[in-house]
Amino acid sequence: MELTEGIIIKTINYKESSKLIYMITDRGLASLEVKGANKINGHSHLYANLLSKIAFSENKHFLSSAKVLDNYVNIKNDFNRLEVTLKILELSYTLIEHITDFEIYYHFLSEILDLINNKDNYLFYESIFYIKTLYLLGIAPSLNACVNCGKKENLLGFVFSRGGMICRNCYKTSDSIYDKDVTVDIIKLYYTKLDALKENEFDINYNGIKDFYIRYYSDYLGYNSKSKNIFDKVK
Ligand SMILES: [Zn+2]
Repeated sequence: MELTEGIIIKTINYKESSKLIYMITDRGLASLEVKGANKINGHSHLYANLLSKIAFSENKHFLSSAKVLDNYVNIKNDFNRLEVTLKILELSYTLIEHITDFEIYYHFLSEILDLINNKDNYLFYESIFYIKTLYLLGIAPSLNACVNCGKKENLLGFVFSRGGMICRNCYKTSDSIYDKDVTVDIIKLYYTKLDALKENEFDINYNGIKDFYIRYYSDYLGYNSKSKNIFDKVK
């Protein structure tokens, strides 16, 4: 039987002893009922853990068979990694309808979680996730050409209210140019392939990048993380 891979990003207790699980797969968001997932005996609870990757088959919205591919143990054993990761899962659940290519998103998310699980410098991969996901959400900033005229020459800097770089000709005195060092970091994270970034991690201004993407997600998608509440629930 062919199994589908999924990353469990949300779970809800359901009926007497079941759980509903929500997964990101390469076809989008999938939800299934896992019977007996809240029973201590039996093993179906193994397939209903938040933040795990499983291979599964389904039958009429029930999980019929599954195996665990990854439990992300290092993340679960580290409060800070867990907090970072739960925010990413929350974003995935909330914004999935905006994702333009599920196959790419699934593999990208899977790789980022592996890196957060295994690399010392997990904050680097958190930043990469938020910056590269802008493209998959269809709200990519114009980073290599003037957002107004499309020319690639004489770019002065990034103007937040316009969502991109502005050139000397199109610049208005009312435009405020975003922090240049942060902009350079963002351009590098955005355009460099993940494989190359993995081989060559570099120092970035984490707080500067975070300020940028929190504001960008809020302005362009109305998205603000609520995951403090989510985090309280799993503690
Ligand atoms: Zn221009």
